[in-house]
Amino acid sequence: VVVVGGGFAGLNAAKALRRAPVELTLVDRTSYHLFQPLLYQVATGILSEGEVAYPLRDVLRRWDNARVILAEVDGLDLERRLVHAAGSDGRRHELPYDSLVVSPGARYAYFGHEEWERFAPGLKSLEDARLVRSRILGAFEAAELDPDPAERSSWLTFVVVGAGPTGVELAGQIAELARGPFRRGFREIDTRDARIVLVDAAPLVLGTFDPRLADRARRELERMGVQVRLETAAAGVDGRGIDVRLADGSHDRIETRTVLWAAGVQASGLAAELGRAVGAAVDRAGRVAVGPDLTLPGHPEVFLCGDAMSLDGLPGVAQVAIQQGRHAGRSIAARAAGRPAPGPFRYRDKGSMATIGRLDAVCEIRGVRLSGFLAAVVWAAVHLTFLIGFANRLVTMTRWTAIVFAGRRAQRAVELGRREVRGHAP
Ligand SMILES: Cc1cc2nc3c(=O)[nH]c(=O)nc-3n(C[C@H](O)[C@H](O)[C@H](O)COP(=O)(O)OP(=O)(O)OC[C@H]3O[C@@H](n4cnc5c(N)ncnc54)[C@H](O)[C@@H]3O)c2cc1C
Repeated sequence: VVVVGGGFAGLNAAKALRRAPVELTLVDRTSYHLFQPLLYQVATGILSEGEVAYPLRDVLRRWDNARVILAEVDGLDLERRLVHAAGSDGRRHELPYDSLVVSPGARYAYFGHEEWERFAPGLKSLEDARLVRSRILGAFEAAELDPDPAERSSWLTFVVVGAGPTGVELAGQIAELARGPFRRGFREIDTRDARIVLVDAAPLVLGTFDPRLADRARRELERMGVQVRLETAAAGVDGRGIDVRLADGSHDRIETRTVLWAAGVQASGLAAELGRAVGAAVDRAGRVAVGPDLTLPGHPEVFLCGDAMSLDGLPGVAQVAIQQGRHAGRSIAARAAGRPAPGPFRYRDKGSMATIGRLDAVCEIRGVRLSGFLAAVVWAAVHLTFLIGFANRLVTMTRWTAIVFAGRRAQRAVELGRREVRGHAP
């Protein structure tokens, strides 16, 4: 069995095969499983990289039937059942399979304007989190030095595009940084003057949540000083600001050195390639339609899971990927053991949640709506449960406790001369 991608789907497929009579190869272009839901905390100085990036080799270290390969998959030959990959040794590799799980995830999409990416980084990888952190911290540093009031205000303006959970969490955390831990550190600027603008074309923040929770989240953000501009779409981004289009068709410009992107996703190109190869439907976000058992049309040996597939309008969230990976792994294990396969995939919606500030969150779990402190506790407990590694849970819990009681954020290293610090005005 070859599993492409060690994200939520791939890792759970591998876990389900741990005791199966199969030889398992897990291929990823990174050496770690990335816990994306907490990436925004790396980008805002709360957590360090190790807490959200767990080595895949460590997860699989005791499994006798499994190996990990650090390689980028760049081709899938469905006829000859071969995975083509460029290895970390600089050579080409061919990995034969009887069963294949493809779960390469997705990346941010810029609505056909990929040129905006260099001015408005998204938050998808560890590298992105480092870049975003450097942009945020670097902007405060530049504002401290810049004597020109207009320039200073542009350094102190932060625009986050996309008011889904990641956008809401990022905007909330920048507001907390400006009003909390940064306040006493600077001499020339009052960091509380920072202007944080959250922009979305939709009429609500957290559009997939219950409207009452969404409204509660918007009010809380505004109380924290975030300007929420809904029905406002990004129309152009450059090194000095962002142009937005309002609901009435008029345009506005926000002068800023820091635009952060948290809107729109595009499935990995590998998925689209697979879709084309078998003539499956590929939607606008590049996701490939799979059968009810998560296999590719005409290829019962190939499973496509997580953010890269489309099935019954399921959202691109971690729970879908986890449950699908598990389902694919169990189906392969059953076949290998000569048992009947588990049948069609059924998603169990366990709810959604997002944090707004330090002790505030909104949660929707099986029809129960929570907000405020209690929701923040539930949010923390759920995220700690899903983090991999006891030590990581302990360190993360310690860092969160330090923030709650002392407001301290230790992960704030920025170096002058690095691309991401200079990158503000390319
Ligand atoms: C910032 C952020 C916050 C999020 N917050 C939440 C949240 O709070 N709750 C929630 O439910 N969901 C959240 N999500 C969504 C959730 O993380 C995804 O739905 C989930 O990660 C999808 O799992 P996946 O296995 O399909 O893909 P991923 O987890 O993205 O894993 C894909 C893996 O494939 C590897 N890969 C990709 N291409 C190749 C290749 N060509 N060769 C080799 N390896 C490859 C990647 O390195 C990666 O390890 C968030 C996402 C982001 C980006």
